Amino acid sequence: MIPFNKPHLTGKETQYINDAVNTGKISGNGKYTKLCQDYLKQRYGFGKCLLTTSCTDALEMAAILINIKSGDEVIMPSYTFVSTANAFILRGAKIIFVDSRQDHPGMDEDKIEALITENTKAIVPVHYAGVACDMDAIMELADKHNLFVVEDAAQAIDSFYTGKDGVKRALGSIGHLAAFSFHETKNIISGEGGMLAINDYQFMARAEIIWEKGTNRSAFFRGEVNKYGWVDMGSSFLPSEVIAAFLWSQLEHLDNIQEKRRKLWNKYIEGLNVLSVKHGIQLPSIPEYATNNAHMFYLVCKDLEQRNKLIDQLKSKDILAVFHYLSLHNSPFYRDKHDGRNLVNSDRFTDCLLRLPFFYELESETVNLIIQSINEAVKKD
Ligand SMILES: *Cc1c(COP(=O)(O)O)cnc(C)c1O
Repeated sequence: MIPFNKPHLTGKETQYINDAVNTGKISGNGKYTKLCQDYLKQRYGFGKCLLTTSCTDALEMAAILINIKSGDEVIMPSYTFVSTANAFILRGAKIIFVDSRQDHPGMDEDKIEALITENTKAIVPVHYAGVACDMDAIMELADKHNLFVVEDAAQAIDSFYTGKDGVKRALGSIGHLAAFSFHETKNIISGEGGMLAINDYQFMARAEIIWEKGTNRSAFFRGEVNKYGWVDMGSSFLPSEVIAAFLWSQLEHLDNIQEKRRKLWNKYIEGLNVLSVKHGIQLPSIPEYATNNAHMFYLVCKDLEQRNKLIDQLKSKDILAVFHYLSLHNSPFYRDKHDGRNLVNSDRFTDCLLRLPFFYELESETVNLIIQSINEAVKKD
């Protein structure tokens, strides 16, 4: 069976874990945590980085930092992972779901402003497949209406947005806050893991406190205060050094991982180009302002029937292709809380999007085989 995903090990993960264990400091915020945080901050121009145990945790930190409280409204796409919404629900927010774009599962920037009310507190763009939302449009709305922007950059490591000013900025460096994931299904992994990027200066000191269970422990260890104690709300958001050591081994190979993934992605798109012309199957589109970090390769079929048939046909050839999100506005948990607006593109991606096997160790010949199998399968339609 050709799996959908296979975690890639770069080779030094266990060596660095051993090193962390042997130093006798295996809780969090040690040598490897600092190596990872400094590297990512430097490389991508984030204001400040804090490793977390997941992207889910980083989003929960963001919700605490922007003081989400009961009655606040948060605007986000419906076509996303549950954690994007859960983080704000936990603090009492009402989620206002916006439809996806026609050409991409990311949020439709033109539909946001009509949803803004006096209760709106934040916009949460999700960079689906690592492809940027139009951040100029989103940041302008946020400025105009005095809102925070929390980027869900779970899939967006090493991807960029070029604004109207011509400057190319890393995704996760543009919003006030941004959350990344290092879950084993992402480009760079640590099993479970994540990071909060803090770009707005006003959040930097408090982020560290929330991260350390509501204490000023980090400032104490830097010698900035002479005792540490409980100064705010918080939780245990920081990962152990074991996880950071694993992550450091991955980050050392970031360029190599990305190069290989881009090569595979390009191979897919070259081999499948004919689908869009002949069979009405939509291929991923990358807007001019965005880069492609080769997080995933997906197709958007004509309808649910075509998608499900393709899944079965590929399965019969031992190829595991999978659908993705189920629109959150239609979920059993949120259906009766949603305001009833139809989100047609979100539902279309729910029904029609299909993700193909995509991972570092996928062989070129295997990609050829998958391309051939898809082309044969749709020909029979
Ligand atoms: C993976 C993912 C998450 C959750 O990441 P975890 O690290 O597993 O918590 C959140 N949002 C999006 C868009 C994701 O792809």
